[in-house]
Amino acid sequence: MHRSEVSTATEAATMPAPAAHSIAIVGSGPAGCYVAHFLRKRWPTAEIVIFDRLGLPYGLVRYGVAPDHTGTKAVARQFDRLFEQGGVRFVGGTEIGRHLTVDQLREAFDVVVLATGLSADRPLGIPGATGRPVPVVTTSTGTQPAGATVHGAALSGAALSGVYGSGRLTRLINGHPDENAEGVVFGSRVAIVGQGNVAIDLLRLLLMSPDELRGHGVADEVVNAIAAGPVRHIDIVGRSSLSRAKFDPAMISELAKIPNVRFLADHGELHDADAEPRDLAKRDVLLRLLATASHDADRTDANPGSDRTVRFHFGWVPERLEGAGSVDTLSLRGSVGSDSSLKLAVDSVLTAIGFFEAADAPLRRQSHESPDSDLEIGRLGPGLYCVGWLRRGPQGTIPANRTDAKMVADVIAAAADAGEFFPGKPGFAGLNLLPSDH
Ligand SMILES: Cc1cc2nc3c(=O)[nH]c(=O)nc-3n(C[C@H](O)[C@H](O)[C@H](O)COP(=O)(O)OP(=O)(O)OC[C@H]3O[C@@H](n4cnc5c(N)ncnc54)[C@H](O)[C@@H]3O)c2cc1C
Repeated sequence: MHRSEVSTATEAATMPAPAAHSIAIVGSGPAGCYVAHFLRKRWPTAEIVIFDRLGLPYGLVRYGVAPDHTGTKAVARQFDRLFEQGGVRFVGGTEIGRHLTVDQLREAFDVVVLATGLSADRPLGIPGATGRPVPVVTTSTGTQPAGATVHGAALSGAALSGVYGSGRLTRLINGHPDENAEGVVFGSRVAIVGQGNVAIDLLRLLLMSPDELRGHGVADEVVNAIAAGPVRHIDIVGRSSLSRAKFDPAMISELAKIPNVRFLADHGELHDADAEPRDLAKRDVLLRLLATASHDADRTDANPGSDRTVRFHFGWVPERLEGAGSVDTLSLRGSVGSDSSLKLAVDSVLTAIGFFEAADAPLRRQSHESPDSDLEIGRLGPGLYCVGWLRRGPQGTIPANRTDAKMVADVIAAAADAGEFFPGKPGFAGLNLLPSDH
């Protein structure tokens, strides 16, 4: 070996290794995993630990995305590599705000990133439903109910049974450890309130055969609850016009593949004068579904089991739920300046109208905000950041969280370059956890 190489190697061995940053990320959904990915690229020797309240990682990729959307769920394999090869540590079963505080993490780690998402079902806020209305507040991306505090007068009257939020149902369908199907009764007439992609996920899953559901890994108790009805008719209701409905056209195209279903809508609700050219794809795909699926239903009329129907309703606002103990009627009023009303006979009502931060969540973004915070860039305070749905509100897909995570990782790196914080805190070892603590 050349002499200078020997001395260089000896010096390197005796010099202390440069200090590396220690980073704690709270939440292992897409936002948390993508932040870990970008910070790992930036600082290959940093200690990166992702904490999650659940024993298994990946948040809504595991417990939200519909089980038949296997292509979307496959992003988990990319995240697996963080833990298997990227040296990122996963600490499951540790709820921050309950088992450990954010302050404890800040004492131990140079950087703490909150990526806990928003998972509480937004309540319908009408008589007969559980919960109270969620006021609209300003978040980092404008006005929406994300991260809102729930307040206001309690609704009068008892909450009826048979009303289920989409968060609860999609967790149930995906085997979330906190959920079980006890008491869940769909019946044969179901109304879905909401016309975003999550509502269409629920619609598709309710129309699947028990064998298909089982084939996608859905637990028997959930399959049995769906099959028990059996679901014969679904009303899917939204306050928006068709052109403003939030679903993606691809989600509607997928429905056309489901056998033995007749899709219906009131023709007057399909054409609105103020439709933008970019909304035409949505209308075209729905018109195609109505035409094709009705035709299929005609062909299979002789077939027992071909009598399932789905009716889309655009421009209707839920007004009240009625029933004796359990919901049996959903009353709607026209949303566009008319005094028209509609009553739907239902056995259950599924709400898919968004998510918010529950007032009793153990970790609330609001309690870490200060005049020094800048939510536009995910900065809550020195060394403390937020990302994903917790930063932006409960909308946007998995790729949107990648973009968000890249932006916040860049902000963190720039703050480090500007000397806002230095490597030197002890990291995970500084938490002094006993093995049974996590
Ligand atoms: C029903 C449903 C279906 C969807 N389907 C699709 C789809 O098909 N395609 C698509 O692109 N997007 C889909 N999305 C959107 C996508 O899931 C979200 O954009 C994304 O998951 C948000 O990422 P996040 O990391 O901010 O939050 P989450 O995915 O919610 O992750 C938050 C994580 O934080 C953990 N956590 C929460 N509180 C604490 C705490 N106090 N301590 C420790 N850990 C905590 C949670 O356990 C969870 O693992 C869907 C969303 C829903 C609700």
